Amino acid sequence: MRWYDEHRRRHLPWREEPGPYRTLVSEFMLQQTRVETALPFFQRFVDRFPDFASLAAAPLDEVLSLWAGLGYYSRARNLHASARAVVAAGSFPDTVEGLRALPGVGPYMAGAIASIALGQDVPTVDGNIARVLSRLHAFAGSRAKVWPLASLHVPPGRAGDHNQALMDLGSSICVPRKPACMICPLRTHCVAHAEGRPEAFPVLPPKRRAPRRRALAAVWRRGDTILLVRRPAEGLFGGLYDLPWTFDDHDAGPSALQRWLTEELGVPFEVGAQLGTVRHTLTHMRLELQLHVVEGEGEPRLRSFTAARWTDPAAPGELGLPTLARKALRMVIAKS
Ligand code: SF4
Repeated sequence: MRWYDEHRRRHLPWREEPGPYRTLVSEFMLQQTRVETALPFFQRFVDRFPDFASLAAAPLDEVLSLWAGLGYYSRARNLHASARAVVAAGSFPDTVEGLRALPGVGPYMAGAIASIALGQDVPTVDGNIARVLSRLHAFAGSRAKVWPLASLHVPPGRAGDHNQALMDLGSSICVPRKPACMICPLRTHCVAHAEGRPEAFPVLPPKRRAPRRRALAAVWRRGDTILLVRRPAEGLFGGLYDLPWTFDDHDAGPSALQRWLTEELGVPFEVGAQLGTVRHTLTHMRLELQLHVVEGEGEPRLRSFTAARWTDPAAPGELGLPTLARKALRMVIAKS
């Protein structure tokens, strides 16, 4: 606590003005995203939606468009759904169990919000905390098994600061490679340091490389615009605009794209030249998207997609687009 009081990161907007709403927004944003990356997005987001009521009243499209560039859009959908659940219930949950019932709120986030925003004496465990505590105790168990250790350490009355102190320590000193043990406030208590093998903890399961998947995308031009379609709410990039594309796991090539397009967009297509390949890594796959110029007749009649827009690729405006689609648009512009 003494170390935290001296070294805490003060200039974080969600720490300067904590509270259930800002803490919830920051926790959703910080899942999978670094603090520095999240900062400008957080400020824009709370400027536009300052409280649960304004977020709950907003259309999902607008929320997704503000989220564009942060990735992992299910977080935005869950945050929006959580705001609607809070407004419908008339109050913010005041227990860990109640928090867990909000869409997208897992054990880590429930513990973090309960301790930081509600002042409750509860632990939480994220990657940073798991690393610090595993090293402190030279504990070789999985992250799920670190929770009992985390409970042991929670100081009455300052759980929120304690949890944030462990997170800060894990992200600044007890880092995965070459931890700075010599300046660590836990050094004299740390078993892994005493044994001279801090990097042996935590013991992580072997990493599997995400599989490579090939996909085919259609660049359907009309004048200076191309067709973007809105993906169904469920599934990959749900609710976002994108080029129409389909997986091609069996390397069937342009004929597969032609058949799929005709089924999905209800008009006959000719598939022409290949523009290039966009590569994009997601947590669960490495995607290679081949862009093909196509020609179709008439207006699209949508089957799975929920909307279609003829869009200037250089100016997609406020449309919520995943990073993959932005990369694809850049290639379309470069090859025009
Ligand atoms: S002494 Fe080293 S290994 Fe132990 S908690 Fe501190 S930084 Fe981590």
